[in-house]
Amino acid sequence: AVVVVGSCMTDLVSVTSRLPKTGETIHGHKFFIGFGGKGANQCVQAARLGAKTSIVCKVGKDSFGNDYIENLKQNHISTEFTYQTRDAATGAASIIVNDEGQNIIVIVAGANLLLNTEDLKKAASVISRAKVMICQLEISPETSLQALTMARSSGVKTLFNPAPAIADLDPRFYTLSDVFCCNESEAEILTGLMVNNPTEAGKAAMALLKRGCQVVVITLGASGCVSLSQTEPVPKHIPTEAVKAVDTTGAGDSFVGALAFYLAYYPDLSLEEMLKRSNSIAAISVQAAGTQSSYPYKKDLPLALF
Ligand code: ADP
Repeated sequence: AVVVVGSCMTDLVSVTSRLPKTGETIHGHKFFIGFGGKGANQCVQAARLGAKTSIVCKVGKDSFGNDYIENLKQNHISTEFTYQTRDAATGAASIIVNDEGQNIIVIVAGANLLLNTEDLKKAASVISRAKVMICQLEISPETSLQALTMARSSGVKTLFNPAPAIADLDPRFYTLSDVFCCNESEAEILTGLMVNNPTEAGKAAMALLKRGCQVVVITLGASGCVSLSQTEPVPKHIPTEAVKAVDTTGAGDSFVGALAFYLAYYPDLSLEEMLKRSNSIAAISVQAAGTQSSYPYKKDLPLALF
């Protein structure tokens, strides 16, 4: 099974012809509510591939929180350790996007930041029984560190996605990561190096590996990803197929969710093969609009991916 200790966010999206100026009110031409948050996104992708999944997270005791739990259930994710609090609202992202795809976003993490180590202790059995645990940085860093520590001590493989990235990441995040997976801009923030192509990504991955992770993966959008490991510390570029991208939002989360699925259910595949397949799944997600709404299901995928 795959367990996620991470975030849920409600996306409130208004589509306009241009972005408003300070103090200005304008008419938009479309509004929709989407389900987001890196933790839940990754969990949904793993679940849609057929993984047995649980999410340890916190939402508000409000209508967005209720709707979010319903969404998790519809994706066959266990919500036994999805907590609801009256002390903060469900995490929300207010998004204004214009027709050219430019956007302004405000994220209020809200209830996500109240997920604490007591909550993790109650979920200890589900964490220790998992094959793989995924964590990101949209909850409090203390809680993420505790989750990774609990997983490690039970022999659960840890997949850490340092997003959104912070420059002075606690060094324990590296040593607690079996797989450390980030995108180009996160790799730049973490290493201070430029990451614009596979060669530069290889250098950044090397720098991250030296901090104590077992495996480093850096995703490169349409160029696929680069990886290396303590056992094979030579950067390897894994390109992906060329596709017509419609909306790349959440591609990284589709990739991480898919990688967790392969680590948990196909542990005998080579790392390169897992990354190739994760590239293929994320490439499908960029060909449809939305975040979770673009994530593919096992039944719609070629048998060769399983
Ligand atoms: P993020 O969504 O975090 O910015 P990336 O842009 O690196 O992450 O995308 C993550 C993964 O999604 C890539 O490694 C790749 O597999 C896939 N992907 C993203 N954009 C494209 C694209 N335009 N064409 C094909 N695959 C893509």
